[in-house]
Amino acid sequence: MTDRTDHTDRRDELAANLARVEERISAACAAAGRKREEVTLIVVTKTYPASDVRLLHELGVRHVAENRDQDAAPKAAACADLDLTWHFVGQLQTNKVRSVVGYADVVQSVDRIRLVDALSAAAVKAEREIGCLVQVALDAEAGERGARGGVAPDGIEELAAAVDAAEGLRLDGLMTVAPLAGPFAGRQHAAFERLMEFASRLRANHPAANMVSAGMSADLEEAVAAGATHVRIGTAVLGDRPRLG
Ligand SMILES: *Cc1c(COP(=O)(O)O)cnc(C)c1O
Repeated sequence: MTDRTDHTDRRDELAANLARVEERISAACAAAGRKREEVTLIVVTKTYPASDVRLLHELGVRHVAENRDQDAAPKAAACADLDLTWHFVGQLQTNKVRSVVGYADVVQSVDRIRLVDALSAAAVKAEREIGCLVQVALDAEAGERGARGGVAPDGIEELAAAVDAAEGLRLDGLMTVAPLAGPFAGRQHAAFERLMEFASRLRANHPAANMVSAGMSADLEEAVAAGATHVRIGTAVLGDRPRLG
């Protein structure tokens, strides 16, 4: 049973965690000579209940992210009255696109043309505009996709052009997850700097695509130092996840 005390305890816990993350982001911005407003905190609420999303909203959070439609759809529905921007950050099957387009404002995991086509068709049908980030797999070989999704760097421009041309979609920028293997393993800063190079190249053709989503609980400092505009923080705010998510 969730009584008032549990609710207050959880609120205090989330508030304390948020304050610590806020401090880390501020310190990282200061160290990089960046303004705090240049970095947006997205809290990754995957595996945690809608009640936590409501508490986070009470505490001032306005951007949340999810990676599985099965969990995200009911949670977003339960929080439909809140002014939240929902980001989808997981590998996305085309048969889930119609559901995701119903609540997601931004899909950060766009990594193949078939997905662009499906998102566009669903967005048009739902009469919505969906922001899209091309997910880059920094460790993928040319022409391949990453083990955790994402397109190899040589595929960025083709996908970006497809998003840009697609009805119902808006090209917002790039996203990455620091690789666990390959030449960038354990070198988050180098990985994020590489992403920033691709992001500047992208902006040459698509000036409005200025969002760079990089950095998680363990490496937000490296991402902010490299120039990320959005960090995606799960465990540092909500605690260790009860299961892999
Ligand atoms: C889970 C997840 C995060 C957050 O990771 P933490 O280590 O919990 O901060 C960020 N990005 C993506 C794509 C994720 O799946």
